[in-house]
Amino acid sequence: MSEQAEQAMETPVLDRYECRSCGYVYEPEKGDDKSDVPPGTLFAELPTNWRCPVCIAKKTAFANVGPAGTASGFKENLGYGLGGNTLTPTQKNILIFGALALGFLFFISLYGLQ
Ligand SMILES: [Zn+2]
Repeated sequence: MSEQAEQAMETPVLDRYECRSCGYVYEPEKGDDKSDVPPGTLFAELPTNWRCPVCIAKKTAFANVGPAGTASGFKENLGYGLGGNTLTPTQKNILIFGALALGFLFFISLYGLQ
C-alpha cells in the first residue's frame, strides 16, 4: 500500500469484537498471537475457522463493540449519568419550584388586592 493510500485511511475502521461467551475482545491492532494472526488483521479478515483463543467460541459468537479508543462502555455510562439521572430531576425541580413560587405570588397578590 502506498503512503498516500495510508493517509487517506487515516481513520481506518478497526472495529473490535467481543466474545459473548467469555468477554475476550479481539483487537485488530494486536491480532492474535496464539493463532498466528498478525497485528492489523481485521476481524472480518480472520479465517472462518478462527476460534476465540480463550474459550474456543466460533466467530459468530463475537459481537462488534466498535473501534478501539472510543471506549463504548464509557460513552454509554456518560449518557446514563448526564442524560437520564441528573438533567431530568433538575428540570423537574425547576418546574416544581417555579410553580410553587408563582402560586405563592398569586396567593399574596390576592391578599394585596383586598
Ligand atoms: Zn471466548
